[in-house]
Amino acid sequence: MRTRWRFVLALALLATQTVAHAQSVQAQAQATSVSVKADVVTITVNIDVPGVSKKDAKAWKADAESVWKEAFGRLPYKCFKLQLVVNVTPQSEDFEARPDHHLIFKTDGVNGMVLKPRGDTTFPYENATDGAWGDLPAAGFAHEVGHLMGLGDDYTEVSKNPRVTKPLPGRQHTLMADGGPVDKALVDRLGAVLRKAGKLPSSCWTGAIRVRVVETFPEGTVCNLAGDGRVTLIVAGSGEVSGTIDVDSTYTCNFGFSDQDSASMDVAGQRTDEGFTLQLSSSCKCYGVLIFPPDRLLEVPITGPGRAEGTLTFRLSVADYTYTSSLECSACEEAVG
Ligand SMILES: [Zn+2]
Repeated sequence: MRTRWRFVLALALLATQTVAHAQSVQAQAQATSVSVKADVVTITVNIDVPGVSKKDAKAWKADAESVWKEAFGRLPYKCFKLQLVVNVTPQSEDFEARPDHHLIFKTDGVNGMVLKPRGDTTFPYENATDGAWGDLPAAGFAHEVGHLMGLGDDYTEVSKNPRVTKPLPGRQHTLMADGGPVDKALVDRLGAVLRKAGKLPSSCWTGAIRVRVVETFPEGTVCNLAGDGRVTLIVAGSGEVSGTIDVDSTYTCNFGFSDQDSASMDVAGQRTDEGFTLQLSSSCKCYGVLIFPPDRLLEVPITGPGRAEGTLTFRLSVADYTYTSSLECSACEEAVG
């Protein structure tokens, strides 16, 4: 497969836009892969670079990752937190191309290209592709890695020799147009590509939960736990649910005791057409009170398109528990009804 990168070099020097060769490389494993853990979506871009020094490989990785890390930090995709890992592996000049790595040839000068179809595409998630990158600024590497995540260019070429490009209307000063910052439109387009490639969970629900626990002890002591929480639920295609509930609460008793605490609970369960059935890990036994008893299920019925809400009450020993939940789908694949 040595010919693969020689071919790419030739293509790069000709600055042609053809993708015929890259399309012939059908990946078994994926050169751009995606893993999802709860609401964290990690995109991993694996590239082999023949002849690159270890130092340059490190710099390419750091440059591309830092630009996207800064962007993903301020711009989530709906309720998903995106992350990028770029693995740049230096290779000898005569190594064999691998189907689970993109192959980037190091060129001279300030230029970069990746072979893929025009526009936003799921292509890099299904195929190892090829490119040629020179001595680019950080935004340049981030732009090229943007292509390896499936983003298209946001400029047109107004002249070939000398090459002059012009950002598309409304795309001035953004990464895929002229090396400017990543904007919300780019993150939303990336999310749409991930969705189209089948890499995202089927939906994500967020909302609020109110927790009230009233303990009435026989000798006359009464204590109240009042908590307000944020709920994030990720639903897989199978209906399996995972997520978190974070609750800030105060606890007061009629003998003058008062305290505050916060709890973070993991959630697991199922979503059906009727609603959510959730089991919570009650990691916080705040003030000796369980925020949620682990042997109970939290049920939140679906009440409308993209909405689930309900109140659950039960009594355990001296305590009356009340949970009021209100959830909305923030990344539904299709209308939920
Ligand atoms: Zn480009």
